Amino acid sequence: MSQSVSLTFPDGSVRAFDAGTTGRDVAESISKSLAKKAVAVAINGTVQDLADPVTDGSIAIITRTDPQALELIRHDAAHVMAEAVQELWPGTQVTIGPVIENGFYYDFKRVHPDTREDWPFTPDDLPKIEAKMKEIIARNKPFTKEVWPRDRARNVFADKGEGYKVELVDAIPEDQDVKIYFQGDWFDLCRGPHMASTGQIGTAFKLMKVAGAYWRGDSNNAMLTRIYGTAWASQEELDQYLHVLAEAEKRDHRKLGREMDLYHFQEEGPGVVFWHGKGWRMFQTLTAYMRRRLAGTYEEVNAPQVLDKSLWETSGHWGWYNENMFAVKSAHAFIHPDDEEADQRVFALKPMNCPGHVQIFKHGLKSYRELPIRLAEFGLVHRYEASGALHGLMRVRGFTQDDAHVFCTDEQMAAECLRINDLILSVYKDFGFEEITIKLSTRPDKRVGSDALWDRAEAVMTDVLNTIQSQSNNIRTGILPGEGAFYGPKFEYTLKDAIGREWQCGTTQVDFNLPERFGAFYIDQNSEKQQPVMIHRAICGSMERFLGILIENFAGHMPLWIAPTQVVVATITSDADDYGREVAEALREAGMVVETDFRNEKINYKIREHSVTKVPVIVVCGKKEAEERSVNIRRLGSQAQTSMSLSEAIASLAHEATPPDILRKLEAKQARAAA
Ligand SMILES: [Zn+2]
Ligand SMILES: [Zn+2]
Repeated sequence: MSQSVSLTFPDGSVRAFDAGTTGRDVAESISKSLAKKAVAVAINGTVQDLADPVTDGSIAIITRTDPQALELIRHDAAHVMAEAVQELWPGTQVTIGPVIENGFYYDFKRVHPDTREDWPFTPDDLPKIEAKMKEIIARNKPFTKEVWPRDRARNVFADKGEGYKVELVDAIPEDQDVKIYFQGDWFDLCRGPHMASTGQIGTAFKLMKVAGAYWRGDSNNAMLTRIYGTAWASQEELDQYLHVLAEAEKRDHRKLGREMDLYHFQEEGPGVVFWHGKGWRMFQTLTAYMRRRLAGTYEEVNAPQVLDKSLWETSGHWGWYNENMFAVKSAHAFIHPDDEEADQRVFALKPMNCPGHVQIFKHGLKSYRELPIRLAEFGLVHRYEASGALHGLMRVRGFTQDDAHVFCTDEQMAAECLRINDLILSVYKDFGFEEITIKLSTRPDKRVGSDALWDRAEAVMTDVLNTIQSQSNNIRTGILPGEGAFYGPKFEYTLKDAIGREWQCGTTQVDFNLPERFGAFYIDQNSEKQQPVMIHRAICGSMERFLGILIENFAGHMPLWIAPTQVVVATITSDADDYGREVAEALREAGMVVETDFRNEKINYKIREHSVTKVPVIVVCGKKEAEERSVNIRRLGSQAQTSMSLSEAIASLAHEATPPDILRKLEAKQARAAA
């Protein structure tokens, strides 16, 4: 056995240490202050306790502010929460407490000391627990680890009345140690790792909510209370997180969708949208905009909704995607499955547009001269999702993809990817999204196509990514090794919204698989059959979800060109109604969607009501305005009033209501005329 351990430090230097040297020893050998700040070490990327001996490899000393420390802070906080709960309510059983996105939870079983009946936690308990956690953190007891024989662990937890922990001990595989982590006298069964002491958790944490949770997620088991918490390295980060949460709640598109009367869902149609007039107007505005952006480059097509199962077998979906598919038969065949006279064919609702587009490409012989062929479809697709996963417009079972497939030659692949990129970035910009991340996902372990094919595609896409990066400062790029689709590498486009949340929307995927499965080919210069490269691309992704993102991004204050009702003309007195009608008609003639409000109500009442439904502009007309042929303009979310002449108002509102792509064309035309 080797008597020394060789460690490579982040600066590349290599040093030897005696066997048995711990992470803390290594930190101390660098500096006392580093050892004090250290919370753990990573050996070859795996985080371990400071007290554990180090082994050969690369070492990184982790301090509280390292991103890797965040998980430790959260995990340690979960332990401290469990100690706090047991200190406050002795006899409460602790079960499991993992780290989750943004925080942690722990599941507890509390029984009332008098009645011995279930006593679930309530939100009122949370401040008490938080206060106790702060006490425990202030005690700053070290985390220490012991490995116990299995029987001892069983007995200790059984004596404490911790039946769930006994079950957990029993579930640990025989070849694994039973590890116990102490923080002072309190201890918990845990795989670790942990930081050096409870004081390192800090105070940037908050308990968020309670929820019922079955033991081991099984509804046949006991109901426990799950307490959720969030924890961060600094108070600023916690504040920022809580701010985003509060903003997200205010902006929730499900709430705004109700207030703005855009759409609804109901029990008979889980995950499928009932668009109301106003919501559908927004949907149509988005579709019309996308159509204009495709004009001249793409051919819009439309492939069937219901196709024979055999086609989905050929495409591979029936095999690897069936959990997400709806199958269809005639109702008669469902009711009479034994009726041999009846048509018993099985069809599927399309979950994707790609196989349909391959059929259109294959119809008729294609020459290399016709490539690239770019087929676009606003394709309604249905995907089966568990009902628990559905979430407003963001996660549905039926949605419209702004989908397209480019069939091209290998040589055209790079130019096509760049062309798609330009379109995606330009569309996002028109909606105000300028902070974009593009990630290239490369070959996964399970894949089709030869290595040579993957080498070529990845090389082309890496070049494309570098070109994109060099063209813009706002674009962040990255590589996700092994995350590609099984049929080819892909780009994923993620945009950042007004409150810093990231949404993955667009994709560009190179596909070696589908053209081959369907035997699609074109005739090359030498009159030989060649398999085309197929590029799948989506910009909004799901139009329903993209609208949900827009609603949340703008908090319902939609830019005038997207707003379902652009202007309400409201009168102050009935004397002005005739003039109000004239104003509304003039605005409509200028292309705007206008409603009128001539009710016998106070003007402020009217303005408040239209603010709830998020109408961006209210044009107020009173007696004075009628006499002067002027209007008084109020903007959503502002107290300011702007007076201007009617003709000025029409010109300025019509300009603002013009979609950005049309405005660009108008301006270009004007510039040409001026030149
Ligand atoms: Zn733990
Ligand atoms: Zn596709």
